[in-house]
Amino acid sequence: MTPGKARPVAAGPRADAVYVNGDIYTVDEQFRRVSAMAVGDGRFLAVGSNALAKEFIGRNTAIIDLKGRTVFPGLWDAHLHFSWYGESLLRVDLSGLEKSACLAAVKAAADKAEPGQWIQGNGWNQALWTDQSGLVGGLPTAAMLDGVSPDNPVVMERTDGHATWCNTRLLTISGMTKDAPDVAEGLIVRYPDGTPTGCFVDAASNVLTSTPPMTEQDARSACQAAQQALFAYGNTCVCDMGSGQAVIERMKDMYAEGQLKIRVQQYVDVQDAATYYAQPLSARLRLFDDRYTVNGIKILNDGAMGSAGAWFMEPYSDNALFGRPPGWVGFPTFGGPYHDADGDPVLVPTIRQNTEKLVEAMGAAVKAGFQVAVHCIGDAANRAYLDAVQKVEQDLPQHAVDPRFRDEHAQCPDADDLKRFKPLKVIPSMQAQHATQEVTMYESRVGHERTVNGGYVWRSLIDLGNVIADGSDAAVEVPNPWWGLFSAVTRINKNGYDDGGPWYPEQCMTREEALRSFTIWAAYAAFEERARGSIEQGKLADFVVVGYPDTGDTDYMTMPAGDIWRMKADMTVVGGETVFMAPGLSLLASESEGAVAAGRPYRSLSVAASRVWATWRSRGHTARNAATTSGSNWVPALA
Ligand SMILES: [Zn+2]
Repeated sequence: MTPGKARPVAAGPRADAVYVNGDIYTVDEQFRRVSAMAVGDGRFLAVGSNALAKEFIGRNTAIIDLKGRTVFPGLWDAHLHFSWYGESLLRVDLSGLEKSACLAAVKAAADKAEPGQWIQGNGWNQALWTDQSGLVGGLPTAAMLDGVSPDNPVVMERTDGHATWCNTRLLTISGMTKDAPDVAEGLIVRYPDGTPTGCFVDAASNVLTSTPPMTEQDARSACQAAQQALFAYGNTCVCDMGSGQAVIERMKDMYAEGQLKIRVQQYVDVQDAATYYAQPLSARLRLFDDRYTVNGIKILNDGAMGSAGAWFMEPYSDNALFGRPPGWVGFPTFGGPYHDADGDPVLVPTIRQNTEKLVEAMGAAVKAGFQVAVHCIGDAANRAYLDAVQKVEQDLPQHAVDPRFRDEHAQCPDADDLKRFKPLKVIPSMQAQHATQEVTMYESRVGHERTVNGGYVWRSLIDLGNVIADGSDAAVEVPNPWWGLFSAVTRINKNGYDDGGPWYPEQCMTREEALRSFTIWAAYAAFEERARGSIEQGKLADFVVVGYPDTGDTDYMTMPAGDIWRMKADMTVVGGETVFMAPGLSLLASESEGAVAAGRPYRSLSVAASRVWATWRSRGHTARNAATTSGSNWVPALA
């Protein structure tokens, strides 16, 4: 499929829409940039010159003059948590706010709430507050919240998810008094007399009464909020990591009812995977006109660096800070409970013990035709997983010649293990924003040597021949791919150049690599590189019209790197349908010289869009046979 070579036959396809005069990044093998594309029936009919695209113009074709605007393939978030991200959007958002603004936001929510209704929120960061008055132990108190919400229980999660701030109403409901016992893996912040202040760190948060479960309506609203936000950032495809059966079945219902359109590759929580192993391919692949595929499992093999739960071979470098016992190495979160040779229970098994448990679960998945994605942050978790891949690959079933095991985060592998990714064909699925948000913490946790050798070393992994699938891990980070591109290219955090500058800049990606990591490489990591991830003839028509900052820059490849995060989506298109348009965008709202030059007067895009949408709906409610699509999924060999 070489853009520029294809020519329509006389009675060939007519495009629903033709886009001309663009600066279109195809992100094909040659990283070619072209000026035009023709879209029909949800796919790219042609990609190349204005003249080529013009050949696809029929009586009902909309002609859109891009006026030199940049177009990227639809951006792909290779690791996020769809429903959790949506839930976070429904809560009070305190991120980036000063103390007074945080309290005002809680008050606004409390003023609207029914009596007794919970006020939930996230994103506060007291380190950003200029007004530090009233903090106890460096953290905010229940008394502050009581002033704005005395009657409704308030629970606010810190930006990193590792501390909870609540009001006195919730302390009372939870029975929290000065006699409350301490918690092993967490901290109840207290006044000198022992009374809890209202802030709970790590596992101590669990002593609070749990928030009421979401209603079905709220859970659906969360999914829709997630989709809307993702489209507005320019994402057209996402890998949803680790959802269980309840979420998956809800999402299927929502697709069937036309409420979801985003393309989701579903990685099932391993606990619920067996249900899906038993299903025929027609029940789980390319459902709802190729919007939803259940084709992978997610295993969580250790914790996170921030809470010192990631599993390492050698102790953390900052035990004292976290009050962990001496020699603390974290622990695996999969395969337990483990026992030592005497049969006594242990928190930390040998790597071999963890590998054996992984092999068991991974073998079952591969046998059922599922891809395996395993969360590995510490070097021990990574080593055990790579060992497991090696074992499983020695005895692959016939249909699984190309299993594409994924290492989610690959955040701190041992130097010796970096070289194993390529030969084992393990795909590092990394989140550029994590690295830049952790610059102040990472090295103190694991020390200099481990940081240099394994700290988000995507440059080293690329140089060893790997591709990187990039993502946000939303709701951990905002699924803003422009921040992702910026982070991958600069390794500078959101506070900018003045905060220590780039973090190990020798590990930066090039701009081309960064864009590939959010498009074609992410598609490859999900077995979709032949159907998505680039703008090429025959692929699904997913793309984003890019907006540049007001700096006068119009070229991603040459603009100042420090401004990449200011880029945005002006228009997001999935399967030929415009699903997001920036407010006030005039691109498609007026007649243009380019359209006239291309031979047809401008017609409203919505004509084409609504027709594509109608086509989609008319056949979207039944699963299509995988064999009829141009994807490269390896599992159809099972059929
Ligand atoms: Zn995650």
